[in-house]
Amino acid sequence: MKQKASKITVKAAKSKHVDKKRLLKTFGLLLGLIILVALGLFLIQQYNSKYPAEGIAGKAYADLSAEQKQGYNVCYKEGKCAALLSTAQQTKNYAEYRTCSKGCYSQALAQKPEDFYCTDSDGVNFTNKGIVTSYFYPRGKEDYCLEINGKNYLFEGKCAGNKAIFVQKNCGEMGSYGCEGGKCVEMHPTFNSILQEPISQEWINQFNADFKIEFKAYVPIIEYPDGGWGWDETNKIEFTAEEKDILTKALYKAVYSMSRVDSYFTKPLPWTSSQSYYSWLKNSVGTIIFYADPNSLNSAPPGKIRLNGYNIINNVNNGMLTTWFNQDLNSPNIGQGIMLLITILTHEARHNDKIKHVSCKNSNNMDENLKTMGAHGVNVMLRHWMKYLLPAELVQSAYDEKVDWMFQHDSFLDRMCSLDPIAKTLEQDDLDWVEDVSGHPLDFNPDIMWTVEFNNELNKNTTLWAVK
Ligand SMILES: [Zn+2]
Repeated sequence: MKQKASKITVKAAKSKHVDKKRLLKTFGLLLGLIILVALGLFLIQQYNSKYPAEGIAGKAYADLSAEQKQGYNVCYKEGKCAALLSTAQQTKNYAEYRTCSKGCYSQALAQKPEDFYCTDSDGVNFTNKGIVTSYFYPRGKEDYCLEINGKNYLFEGKCAGNKAIFVQKNCGEMGSYGCEGGKCVEMHPTFNSILQEPISQEWINQFNADFKIEFKAYVPIIEYPDGGWGWDETNKIEFTAEEKDILTKALYKAVYSMSRVDSYFTKPLPWTSSQSYYSWLKNSVGTIIFYADPNSLNSAPPGKIRLNGYNIINNVNNGMLTTWFNQDLNSPNIGQGIMLLITILTHEARHNDKIKHVSCKNSNNMDENLKTMGAHGVNVMLRHWMKYLLPAELVQSAYDEKVDWMFQHDSFLDRMCSLDPIAKTLEQDDLDWVEDVSGHPLDFNPDIMWTVEFNNELNKNTTLWAVK
């Protein structure tokens, strides 16, 4: 038993010795491994700092100078690294992407300030599409439009310190301009969009300074059995504050809208002595009086024009301020557009230029011919100008067919003594004159316009040209 025990002790001592040796060996190996791993990590870190695999991310990119970053970004974009990255994300093979990104990084690091150059074809010219060529854009980069938060901006390239930079420009600051094809271009409105434009307080203040508006109540007359008479104050008709507001706003809308269209005419209207429509109206109209007499006629006593207020209110209630022309082509008296009020204003204001009607064809409400530019004739010319002397974008808006329609049906040509309803011709002298002043022949369709029967009565259906 004793022997056995000592044997065991020897064995244990022997095994203890072996364990120590093995431990030492393992520790050595481990230490070596740790050193190796550390060295590996160090090398990888060194490698990565020189060639980042992460594209534009990472510390390596952050450490680049602003110019180097720009160089890197341009290279990244033009070298299609971004496209390679999205491919790599699908295939899980990043080799090509890394090569691209690394190449750009090396290139960016190698940039020297003396290499920079920049040329700009147009300088800072917002209305021209220029191209900037620089170290970063060797193939050139053009001015471009970009939508940001729903607004379209111009990015105008220019050179600064031998480098290309792109300045963000809101074309709207130049007036009715927008960005199109890398430049600010004038945006032509449509007839419809003009009606939707808000009228500024400045414009209204100017209008109120230039035009005088009055409202006149209607007091009927009472005739007494003894032959005397008096004012029937109990049946007096007076505009309410709300009605006055409707009339004032309708007037603003008509003059504002016509002035906007006028600003696009390629030639001034022929009767305005080269003034704008607004200036002509201001100089001719004087005071505008809205009459509350429901049976009153529009007219132009010297220095004033008088308008039937309730006719206008009725038209406003039928949508006059939201459309240019009659809303129903087949029913000329339904849904009058703003053109009706413009027509009345133009007609009456023209009378204040000391232009009177003449008598012919059993009517005293006629113009001799177009050439005299009478109160009917100017409305023919206004439509002719709207059809032929506006930018195509404006005329060819949603309403162009109605311009045609209005011209042919609503043209007042049949108020010309120079029109021969039997021969269906307008005097050649008149036709020549129109072509001469406008550069365009008159839109003259003899098959359409012979609908008005001439008589001595003022045309009661239309309530428009009931004028003296
Ligand atoms: Zn008249």
